[in-house]
Amino acid sequence: MIQGFNPAAATAAYLAQLPPELHAKAKAYTQGGHWLLLWGAVVAVIVALIILRSGVLVRVRNGVERGKPRPWLAVAAVIAVSSLAELVLGLPWDAYSSWWREKSYGLTSQPFAGWLSEHLLGAVISIVLLVILASLVYALIRRAPRTWWLWATGVVTLGFFAFNVLQPILIEPLFNTYTPAPPGAMRDTVVAMAKQAGVPSDKILIYNGSKQSNRYSANVAGAFGTARVAMSDVMFKKDADLAEVRAVVGHEMGHYVLGHWGWLTFALGVVTLIGLFLVDRLFGLVLRLTGAKGVSGLADPAGYPVVGILLAVLGLLGTPIVNSVIRITEAQADHFSLVNFNEPDGLARALVKTIEYRYDSPGRLEEVIFYDHPAVARRIRAAMDWKAAHPKPTPSAS
Ligand SMILES: [Zn+2]
Repeated sequence: MIQGFNPAAATAAYLAQLPPELHAKAKAYTQGGHWLLLWGAVVAVIVALIILRSGVLVRVRNGVERGKPRPWLAVAAVIAVSSLAELVLGLPWDAYSSWWREKSYGLTSQPFAGWLSEHLLGAVISIVLLVILASLVYALIRRAPRTWWLWATGVVTLGFFAFNVLQPILIEPLFNTYTPAPPGAMRDTVVAMAKQAGVPSDKILIYNGSKQSNRYSANVAGAFGTARVAMSDVMFKKDADLAEVRAVVGHEMGHYVLGHWGWLTFALGVVTLIGLFLVDRLFGLVLRLTGAKGVSGLADPAGYPVVGILLAVLGLLGTPIVNSVIRITEAQADHFSLVNFNEPDGLARALVKTIEYRYDSPGRLEEVIFYDHPAVARRIRAAMDWKAAHPKPTPSAS
């Protein structure tokens, strides 16, 4: 133990670095965000109902099939039209929730045109991936009407796996510019840490994350040959000291070394299995409730918005489960950083920078339902408890 060091007082001192009025603003932003989840699901359901009841998907299906069954083409055309309609109808909500609101809280400086072009690019990528995925799932529904949800879970899980392996090389470069980190103390530190933790150390990248967000971020992503450490340039602009970089990058390396990616893939598989099973069981009931005409059943792509309604509602109900699975891995990554790199104050300094946009002291129930990271007050307290129990032989250079 360190003589005279009080973890509770040290935690309170860190949190007090943010003035009370900004704590209140962070609380309003965070708790308003909880409501956004609910309203987002409501918007998704309304948009799906409008598309369904307009009859446009039935016309698209009939237009493609013209009397003879062309199930693959019908699915692709209907899903594409439905997704484009969702994109257009949902645009005001998306602009409000992910651009205007962020801007009004001072969390992004991105102009609207920049946000919109990225949003549309993201939507186009999603629609292409969704058409591929839906084509496979609808084929399974036609082949195995009773057990399709079991096979579809396998397809979704494999797709998630492939997406994660390929994301660093195929998707991320579309949004940001990744360049090798410039030589210097920061790079040397991260390379030494990667070697110590057993992370590939040949690819240490910097990306222009300040383009989208003033938030402070780094990640270790990919698998096999694509794994790399990427750090936002915000880390450099905010005068991050080495202890802080070590703590944050150590946390990200923890996710990688502890295999959280595989664990999350498994958890996603379980959640998908339950969700698709419920879609199978509830489709007929919800279709009747919507009063839509001309949809013959689950295998008919014209009923796709009914699946969308079910997934929006089930997704909302599943939020606490998904958040809790992720939150546990986040606590483990903090612990990994402390055990391997012993920078409790660096971690605390990095975490304090995030409490402007994530309220630091929610109630336990609020944390379990809505937080996909442990609350910062608890994370800093864990770091200070670690510090009290593990005094450094020599003080940090910073
Ligand atoms: Zn993390």
